[in-house]
Amino acid sequence: MSTDRTRALRLTRWGGPPVLTQVPRPIPSGEEVLIQVEAAGLCRSDLHVMDAAPGGLPYRVPFSLGHEVAGRVLERGPQAAGPEVGESVVVYGPWGCGSCARCAAGAENYCDRRAVLDAGRVGTGAGLGRDGGMADLLLVPSGRLLVPVGDLAAVQAAPLSDAGLTAYHAVATVRRSLGDDASASVVVIGVGGLGHLAVQILRATTAVRVLTVDVREEALALAEECGAHFGTLLRPDTAGVLRSRTGGVGAVAVLDFVGSHSSLELAVAVLRAGGDLAVVGSGGGELTVRKPGALPAGTRVSLPFWGTVPELRRVVALAREGALRVEVERFALSSAPEAITRLRSGTVRGRAVLVPD
Ligand SMILES: [Zn+2]
Ligand SMILES: [Zn+2]
Repeated sequence: MSTDRTRALRLTRWGGPPVLTQVPRPIPSGEEVLIQVEAAGLCRSDLHVMDAAPGGLPYRVPFSLGHEVAGRVLERGPQAAGPEVGESVVVYGPWGCGSCARCAAGAENYCDRRAVLDAGRVGTGAGLGRDGGMADLLLVPSGRLLVPVGDLAAVQAAPLSDAGLTAYHAVATVRRSLGDDASASVVVIGVGGLGHLAVQILRATTAVRVLTVDVREEALALAEECGAHFGTLLRPDTAGVLRSRTGGVGAVAVLDFVGSHSSLELAVAVLRAGGDLAVVGSGGGELTVRKPGALPAGTRVSLPFWGTVPELRRVVALAREGALRVEVERFALSSAPEAITRLRSGTVRGRAVLVPD
């Protein structure tokens, strides 16, 4: 590799496929920080991005994919704050305006100027309309978007920034329902990249019983390894099976990491009155909110999206304490097409992570 060129996995046209290509080496200016990428997670959202129709997303092509990134600080712009050169970091993925009240609180996932940014097609973050980390190098706009990870391995750290953080934020969203009642139950639908971390976060930070549902036997085995109390395949009688596991009262909370028609139907059927339903997955299902209607009385519905910088710090702390371990399948960056094919076919166990080779 010559010193003024570097590799990146670029989406050059809508409908893909992305191509690994040479791009100019970024030079950090102002507050920017250049990261030497050591690992980048592959997410279902990447498939949605590369499969999007022209005009379907508020982004301009071309850009480099990769919104789950860990690596080392390589160079800092003259005004850069935060981690020093050589420090191992994970990159906070949703990049907001950086100056509104939400961004100032580290909640760039809920930036108040999102609509303005989208109208300008500047992108929603690393690998999402802006150049991401499926690359040798990643230019980050500011040190405020970096969280130090200490001696945590990069392949473990990278998935924490989306799979780990989104799962943590979803649990935080329903936390008021979880209490410290060890007889209460929470249902986790979908034990993939996010769901297997949600199970571990629930076990590490709450006393509730964790019941899991998936369509794959391997996912239920992974759920059990992660500490789930019970797992069942999605079948016509699943709601009844789960309800009986809650002593008939239903679950105090449901975390739906699928968000399809059938998963939402199941969620509504197993929810206890006065409970919490968090719809995390973007599976295209629809929920009718009507009073009275199918949702139990007192239900709170939330649509958590990604998470905040303070939450990412807590997720990193949980991982460093050993309470959170990401199930990872490694692929070389040059083998990205294979990783994408495997993710599409649903045969990745846990999270696929690309490592520059
Ligand atoms: Zn993602
Ligand atoms: Zn903002």
